Amino acid sequence: MCPRHHRNPPSNVFDLRLWPKRPGAPKRSGTPDRPGAPDRSGSGEDDGVARRDSQRAEPTTCPCGQGLPYADCCRRLHTGSADAPTAEALMRSRYAAFVVGDPEYLLRSWHTSTRPPRLRLDPGQRWTGLEIVDTDRGGLFDSTGTVEFRAHYREAGRPGTVAERSRFVREDGRWVYLDAGST
Ligand SMILES: [Zn+2]
Repeated sequence: MCPRHHRNPPSNVFDLRLWPKRPGAPKRSGTPDRPGAPDRSGSGEDDGVARRDSQRAEPTTCPCGQGLPYADCCRRLHTGSADAPTAEALMRSRYAAFVVGDPEYLLRSWHTSTRPPRLRLDPGQRWTGLEIVDTDRGGLFDSTGTVEFRAHYREAGRPGTVAERSRFVREDGRWVYLDAGST
């Protein structure tokens, strides 16, 4: 696939502030955001991070697209038992975190200067696939890198795509997401 001439129009491109809904954005009407609200699966503790969707079964094959068992792939990053060796690996693990519903990992893998105070994943958004379009640097011996990707989802029965050129840097030696650079 040629990324520059993809059939989707460039209007699909937007930055991660909109993906998912920006923390602090106006609340959707009819969904009061309060601890203990009936739509949350948490225990009532509120540490600023949405609860993991505990009802969602852990995938057998890792959703990041590498074709490996989840336990041997991004789960090791999600649990903190391994660090992403490259910016692309971190990107894939962050996508996988959206799929499995792990906002804690998304925050942990976000640069402290740009990380939102809290993150709530949209339970109605089902991620269906990731394409890595292009990478620049982000390797074992780099300290910065970019990864251009397309992430596909369905919401309310409709397909959608997030396209972004993400910037990654090392923070304390570990790859973290910085922000969405211009495409
Ligand atoms: Zn993976």
